[in-house]
Amino acid sequence: MGKIVAANWKMNLRRDAARALASSLAGQGRDLWLFPGFTLLETVRQATSGSSLKLGAQDVSPEVDGAFTGDISAEMLVDAGATMVLVGHSERRHSHGETSALLLRKLHRALAAGLAPLLCVGETLAQRQAGRAEKVVRDQLGLVKKLTPAAREQFCAVAYEPVWAIGTGQNATAAQAGAMHNLARAEMNTLGMGTVPLLYGGSVKPDNAGELLAVAGVDGLLVGGASLELESLQTIDDLAG
Ligand code: PEP
Repeated sequence: MGKIVAANWKMNLRRDAARALASSLAGQGRDLWLFPGFTLLETVRQATSGSSLKLGAQDVSPEVDGAFTGDISAEMLVDAGATMVLVGHSERRHSHGETSALLLRKLHRALAAGLAPLLCVGETLAQRQAGRAEKVVRDQLGLVKKLTPAAREQFCAVAYEPVWAIGTGQNATAAQAGAMHNLARAEMNTLGMGTVPLLYGGSVKPDNAGELLAVAGVDGLLVGGASLELESLQTIDDLAG
């Protein structure tokens, strides 16, 4: 079986572009995971219906349905066709100040609604330079200790995404990714997440995807910018096999 390719479209695309991209991928029989913005979920759901593509959302409210203006609940995401959700993406941890306590509430809500979380972890450049990268990743993974063992097995994946590599064009080297994947995998094994895939994310492009996919312990890729264009996404997916 090939490795996983997950596409995080972030706050990009409009319905026509999303439909075209998703339809092409579906028509090619690909089995990527797509994470479009909220307003694109229904469009992508329709375009990928009956295909092997999987649909996820980029965020979930920590609250159940109710008076929470602007929030999107886990149940609404399920209703829109999502089966997965990103939790802990660095753009939310750092730009939106999302704390571990908030992420834990989001994980609880996602799991209760039957959504499979894709938990993102990764250190900042300052943390790496201070020699704290391993501890940061270990601590971020440790959040799942507050979930039941059964819940931990429901994650669709964990993604190691060094913050300094996201959207910067500066990907982790194979050696850096390999070292952190070793550590994260060992940690996940002790947390009862031995069967949960571990992805790498951070400036993955067609010209570095092959090298990163070849790293031992990399079960797939979480791709942002390069997932917005059919050709680059196809190339990365072809490399994933
Ligand atoms: C991401 O959004 O998770 C990501 C890795 O982005 P990019 O590929 O653009 O660095």
